[in-house]
Amino acid sequence: MIVGVDIDNVIADTEREVRRVLEADRGISLVREDFRHYALEKMPGLGPEDMDYILGRFRDGSIFLNVPVIDGSRETLERLMQRHRVVLVTSRPQSVESYTRKWLENNRVPFHELHFTPETKVNGIQYDLFIEDQDNFACEIAESGSYVLLYDAPWNRHVSHDNIERVFSWEDIDRFCFPPCATGHGKAK
Ligand SMILES: [Mg+2]
Repeated sequence: MIVGVDIDNVIADTEREVRRVLEADRGISLVREDFRHYALEKMPGLGPEDMDYILGRFRDGSIFLNVPVIDGSRETLERLMQRHRVVLVTSRPQSVESYTRKWLENNRVPFHELHFTPETKVNGIQYDLFIEDQDNFACEIAESGSYVLLYDAPWNRHVSHDNIERVFSWEDIDRFCFPPCATGHGKAK
């Protein structure tokens, strides 16, 4: 099986780091539920100078080095690596590749391939399963025929599709990928 995996807000807790940086450097305090859209431009309370600041940190790549890893992602990716092909697919620009590779290495995130595709995640690879959080990408991948595990976030709550299943943690993803043997265990009262 070929498993596509997004990085930001699936493996990397980028939204949390954006909030931390905005608070530390700009004095702006936000909570996760404020992030109702993927585009920061739509975020209430962010002025043009704040936007320039945070987008600059994305452009030069420096923000990516300190992003925390989302709980459980490394462990499940390690399990997936043993049986499947793990392909990381990010919409980050190629210009931040060195920061991205350094972060993956520093955090011991395992993978077979890494692709930078800012415009689309339908990139000619026939994914059997794709783990994604961004609404437009999840929908285009689902439309292309791949099954999507949509990592729940305030900015994707409107998404639904026959090929999309919502998950809330890497524990959910692990359970989906490695279901317990059908021994009746858990069914008996
Ligand atoms: Mg993402």
